Amino acid sequence: MTNKKSKNSSTVYLLGAGPGDIELMTIKSLKLIKKAQIIIYDRLANPDILKEAPKDCEFVDVGKTDGKHPVKQPEINEIIYQSSLKYKNVVRLKGGDPFVFGRGGEEAIYLKERGIKFDIVPGITSAISVPAYAGIPVTQRGVVSSFRVITGHEAPGKATSQIDWSSFATDETLVFLMGLHNIKIITSKLIAIGKSKDYPVAVISKGTTKDQKVVVGTLENIAKKAKNLDTPALIVVGKVVSLREDLRWFD
Ligand code: SAH
Repeated sequence: MTNKKSKNSSTVYLLGAGPGDIELMTIKSLKLIKKAQIIIYDRLANPDILKEAPKDCEFVDVGKTDGKHPVKQPEINEIIYQSSLKYKNVVRLKGGDPFVFGRGGEEAIYLKERGIKFDIVPGITSAISVPAYAGIPVTQRGVVSSFRVITGHEAPGKATSQIDWSSFATDETLVFLMGLHNIKIITSKLIAIGKSKDYPVAVISKGTTKDQKVVVGTLENIAKKAKNLDTPALIVVGKVVSLREDLRWFD
């Protein structure tokens, strides 16, 4: 990869806005939004974030939702790059954390190859905060000591799959992002590798917002129970789901 020396003084902030509750933004991200000259954003869990920008800030909606990209990634990369030639403070705003299924890495590489300076501003990822708002800790002493975050967008069986389904046979907590539309396939696959049909599962929709909805069930029945939930939603599979009975606090 070439790393040309920076030709201009602009910085692109690849910035994570957190999962939805605006108060879960970091102080750093809010400071950067307040001085942004342009904000390039996806469909956000909380559009109120844009109200924090300066009055003359330009907004570009690249409308990425749940793996569907009305504006294709190469075009998004180019929009960010062109913005950096025009403005000094460019914010590329993403839900959650920019490096957790946020394609922040690809965008940073594109900028690096063109000699544009970028900062990564981590955000609170939905993968841990959305379960937390549902009263589900992703780890719990004596119950489970690790968790995994997996894309649910990649259909199992895909020739190029990077997911090793057989490795999910343990009791680790599994958090599937972008998986609502594939929930039937995901749960069937987990049963097929030997997990019990009664294994606890939760689906959390619009987590950390006032519209948060949580449905709890089992690998066998969750697809049916969760069929009316809206995106964004994530799926938590694990014994920790049962802790919600005691730890439920937000919804
Ligand atoms: N970078 C983001 C994830 C992008 S992938 C992050 O770190 O959170 C988008 C997926 O994140 C959605 O399909 C959904 O599974 C999950 N997600 C994001 N916000 C959510 C929310 N408020 N409630 C439930 N799931 C959410």
